[in-house]
Amino acid sequence: MNRKTERHWEKIYVIVDIHDTIVHACYENTETFDYFLSAKEALQLMTNRDDVCLILWSSTYREKLAMYLDHFAADGIRFDYVNANPEVTNTALSDFEAKLYYNVGIDDKFGFEPETDWTSVIEVLSLYKTN
Ligand SMILES: [Mg+2]
Repeated sequence: MNRKTERHWEKIYVIVDIHDTIVHACYENTETFDYFLSAKEALQLMTNRDDVCLILWSSTYREKLAMYLDHFAADGIRFDYVNANPEVTNTALSDFEAKLYYNVGIDDKFGFEPETDWTSVIEVLSLYKTN
C-alpha cells in the first residue's frame, strides 16, 4: 500500500487463494464455507474499494468455481477476475501471458497465516483509506 502511494498507482492487484486461506479446506462433497476469522470482513472491504482489484487465485475446477463465486457474492465478496489479470498486459521486460501480474498474494502457500493474518489485512486497509 505504501508503494502504491509512492508510485501513484490507481489500484493494487490482490490475488487470493480459497482453500486454507479464505475458508478451511473442506474434504466433503459439499463445501461448508467455514471462513477464517476476519476473512469475510477483509474481503468485503476489498470488494468495496476502487483501489483494490480482487482476483481469485485457485486451482478449483471450472465446474465448482461458479458455486464458490456465487456463494462469495452472496456474502458480499466479488472477484473482478479468476486466475487472470487482463488489465496488465506485457511490457518490454515482462511477459504476463502465463504469469499474471499482481502486487499482493494472499495464499497459505505464500506463507499467509489464515488464522491470524486477515486481521492484519483489515488494519492495513484502514491505514490507507481512500473512499
Ligand atoms: Mg490453499
